[in-house]
Amino acid sequence: MTVKINVKCPYCGSKEVSKNGFSLSGKQRYRCYNEQCKKSSFILDYTNKGYLPEIKKKVINMSLNGSGIRDISRVLSISTWLVMNEIKKGLQI
Ligand SMILES: [Zn+2]
Repeated sequence: MTVKINVKCPYCGSKEVSKNGFSLSGKQRYRCYNEQCKKSSFILDYTNKGYLPEIKKKVINMSLNGSGIRDISRVLSISTWLVMNEIKKGLQI
């Protein structure tokens, strides 16, 4: 089974990215395969407030489809507390 990465390059929007190890601070690093992209690698910091709204939607969708918090966290590469936060917020709508 190949691991699907639900990540877009924040610089060019390409989905042709793969995980590329970790930064010195321990954050997941990604590589962008778009040749036109100025950045060949990037780090998504989901601890920032402005992280991708798509991720939030995916968290809600996955939880509605019966995925556990740990599964969601692993698939989307975000922390479990962030998943729990989004699920709580999602349930309030
Ligand atoms: Zn890119």
